[in-house]
Amino acid sequence: MTQTVTEHFSEQLSLRARALLHGMGAELPTPGTLLARSPISGGILLPLTIDTPTTVDAAIGRAAGAFPAWRTVPAPVRAAVVRRLAELLVAHQGALAELVTLEAGKISAEALGEVQEMIDVCEFAIGLSRQLYGATMPSERPGHRLMETWHPLGVVGVISAFNFPVAVWAWNTAIALVCGDTVVWKPSETTPLTALACHTLLRRAAVDVGVNPEVHQLVQGDATVGHALVDDPRVALLSATGSVRMGAAVAPRVAARFGRCLLELGGNNAAIVAPSADLDLAVRGIVFAAAGTAGQRCTSLRRLIVHRSIADEVVGRIAAAYTQLRVGNPLEEGVLVGPLIDERAYTAMQEALVRAGQEGGVIVCGGERVDLIGPDAYYARPALVRMPKHTELVREETFAPILYVLTYDDFDTAIALNNDVPQGLSSSVFTLDQREAERFLSADGSDCGIANVNIGTSGAEIGGAFGGEKNTGGGRESGSDSWKAYMRRATNTINYSTELPLAQGIHFG
Ligand code: NAD
Repeated sequence: MTQTVTEHFSEQLSLRARALLHGMGAELPTPGTLLARSPISGGILLPLTIDTPTTVDAAIGRAAGAFPAWRTVPAPVRAAVVRRLAELLVAHQGALAELVTLEAGKISAEALGEVQEMIDVCEFAIGLSRQLYGATMPSERPGHRLMETWHPLGVVGVISAFNFPVAVWAWNTAIALVCGDTVVWKPSETTPLTALACHTLLRRAAVDVGVNPEVHQLVQGDATVGHALVDDPRVALLSATGSVRMGAAVAPRVAARFGRCLLELGGNNAAIVAPSADLDLAVRGIVFAAAGTAGQRCTSLRRLIVHRSIADEVVGRIAAAYTQLRVGNPLEEGVLVGPLIDERAYTAMQEALVRAGQEGGVIVCGGERVDLIGPDAYYARPALVRMPKHTELVREETFAPILYVLTYDDFDTAIALNNDVPQGLSSSVFTLDQREAERFLSADGSDCGIANVNIGTSGAEIGGAFGGEKNTGGGRESGSDSWKAYMRRATNTINYSTELPLAQGIHFG
């Protein structure tokens, strides 16, 4: 039987994925029922074996077994494995980024940026290893010292989403390792190959610097495999990134066993455009935030709240920019919008656009499928939709490139609209009015974990704490003092006097 052009192309992608894995030192997985696909063609890259409850149990056991020795290694010495990982990431940046493109469909520039973020967070973690500070407080008792010390927590379970298949793992793992924890990672079932590559590089880094490679474990599969991590009391912290639906399923189960959760869930991010805004800058920021990564970032811009006086102009300029966006194979130069991850994402996008119409919305441009590489690949033009009001649809996160435009007359209303969603991840204001900018960042301004001025909602730097409020889950990862989530705190009181004074001036006996 002759191969179709699409089949041939899919086979080329599969061969390329195998070559990239081989180049990074990964052994090809035993074939099984977990199918790694490329959204570029919809074809299969490689079949893998799904972990079973028994193999997950064993992986957690190995991570738990490695913990007692690992926690006693001084933190700056632990950093050696992260330093070596960073070196390997630099050496394999192009290959890992290409695998991200093959498996998650990101354009090359964004995939390279994702791996750069991994390198950056490794550097951050190396410096952090000498700064796991505890505070010293004045004791109310003479001859006493009161202080805090921070200790490793145990096994950290990491559940990650498809859309940042490698960076989110690095945020968690680089920090967890310098904090003295061991890690069991369950990546998205949609992106198992990039996970295999990262796991291979980390295990190699460990061996190169004489660290027990069992400090890191990888388990592959869907939510069922995730459940095994969620319910296991040996997992001290579960760091889970994904949809609000996933967080709602996971959080009560972890809480029921008094485990800790770090949740990084969905967003429904807005940008306000005020009359004073620098529109050239605003439009560039808006288009990247809304259409970049085909709208498949947790921080993607989904709602634009524009002052009525400039709404037509802003919408016209965004629509003009959208027509210039090249949608297509993310491996090709000049392409700015790659595929949606799968058919389900495309269907959700189309259903949302139909509902928008039913709720009085008008599609200004985009939304249609672009049939480029066969029936199993889902490419869509980013959609720009004017909405008459803030409907239930607009308040939901549809994980696809749809930007809803709403108008406002006074700034209070704009802030109220920004906050009128269940999620609380990222937000922006474009304004040159300092009062508006400061108000947006104030206690009665944006209620999100990320609030920006004159910059889009997406593209956070690793140095800040990343995460959001409300249904986004309240977790913080990456920079600032996010490391505290990966450690346990002890309060220590030391009496170096010859007396035994009690706190609060109590006399006993
Ligand atoms: P998803 O919720 O479908 O899956 C995420 C991960 O959770 C996967 O590994 C999946 O197997 C696992 N999972 C799902 N249900 C589970 C359960 N009941 N128990 C245990 N594990 C379970 O999300 P997705 O489609 O991969 O990613 C897109 C979503 O993730 C969007 O909502 C996006 O906003 C969100 N996201 C958030 C952040 C953030 O930092 N806030 C970052 C990336 C993605």
